[in-house]
Amino acid sequence: LPDKLPHVGTTIFTVMSALANQTGALNLSQGFPSFPADPALLALVTEAMAQHHNQYAPMPGVPDLREAIAGKIQADYEVDYHPADEITVTSGATEALFAAISTVVQATGTGGGPDEVIVFEPAYDSYVPAIELNGGVPVYVSLAPPHYAIDWDAVRAKITPRTRLIMVNTPHNPTGRVWTRDDVNQLAAIAEAHNLLIISDEVYEHIVFDQDTGAGRQHHSLMTHPGLRERTFVCGSFGKTFHVTGWKIGYCLAPKVLTAAFRKIHQFVTFSVPTPMQYALARYLQEPERYQTLSAFYEQKRNTFLDAIAGSPFRYIPTEGTFFQTLAYGHLTDEPDTELAIRLTHEIGVASIPLSVFYHDRRDYRMLRFCFAKDDAMLREAGSRLKAWA
Ligand code: PMP
Ligand code: GLN
Repeated sequence: LPDKLPHVGTTIFTVMSALANQTGALNLSQGFPSFPADPALLALVTEAMAQHHNQYAPMPGVPDLREAIAGKIQADYEVDYHPADEITVTSGATEALFAAISTVVQATGTGGGPDEVIVFEPAYDSYVPAIELNGGVPVYVSLAPPHYAIDWDAVRAKITPRTRLIMVNTPHNPTGRVWTRDDVNQLAAIAEAHNLLIISDEVYEHIVFDQDTGAGRQHHSLMTHPGLRERTFVCGSFGKTFHVTGWKIGYCLAPKVLTAAFRKIHQFVTFSVPTPMQYALARYLQEPERYQTLSAFYEQKRNTFLDAIAGSPFRYIPTEGTFFQTLAYGHLTDEPDTELAIRLTHEIGVASIPLSVFYHDRRDYRMLRFCFAKDDAMLREAGSRLKAWA
């Protein structure tokens, strides 16, 4: 068989969750909640099933759900997307990202060679395989701890006649960094000057912290910039927002021409996604306060975890968004991050994710990522074990 992804093994999320299960460790590695979803949402699925919503959904998604997403986007960002031809329901954000990348990236593009895609790293691990499977070439802009700030001159220096697409993720997995309005404006100027398309992964849009104190950052969706709205595929997911990562239901928002091309591919990747869940989500979205409290909910969890490790020698900046906290340990041991993640899972029963796997050259800043979408007792126990180890 050909090896179409020679640089890729099994995704780190599968590896670390399997190790956590095998060893009985507290699993703060893969990003998923340890607590149940709202029973009201679950009841809506049962209701939809009883109402015989059990056959194929329309290819772009159940109309009620596309309407509900349009209403949500308008309420959250005051931006209009038309349910008929600008919103597509997908099999999680993963499929939205894959289909959007496949829509854009060509092995022989308009620049006469493979399309180049700007990827900020550390990068979520599904982007580059999708780019490579489509014959594109990732061009990396590497960001460094502790702030992972983007040097926009460095981005400009990477643009060539073959650059076609820029991948964006804010709030950012794994660093927890949230883009500023200036970042968005800088991106827009580059995208407009070079006629680039954008894919914006905003699955953590409702998880941003420290708003009350004024110290935090707002989430600036790329759709709120008129110049970007016209050239961006915005990918979202209900998994993060409603504690149902196993449902794998997300969506892609894009202008009509981009959506038409996107749907051509989506229809043959998965055709459509589970019908009863789509009805349930459409009804559940009628009460937006259900996700408007999510940031406060996760801020408390972040603080519970940080309180539990307070006084330990780990170095960190409290995460700005997402449900991940990174900890730097390089001043404690020179052990590579992947080795340490595995050792801590075995020795103290706390599983995490090493950040080097999100760099193409496995650059190792000696950082581990901990998911705090866990019940408080688990966060306190994990924190105290880490503190005792350090
Ligand atoms: N993008 C990012 C940044 C993620 O963290 C995740 C999953 N945790 C996804 C995409 C995939 O989302 P989904 O589970 O909806 O496919
Ligand atoms: N996005 C989740 C994380 O970052 C994992 C998703 C997956 O396992 N594919 O942990």
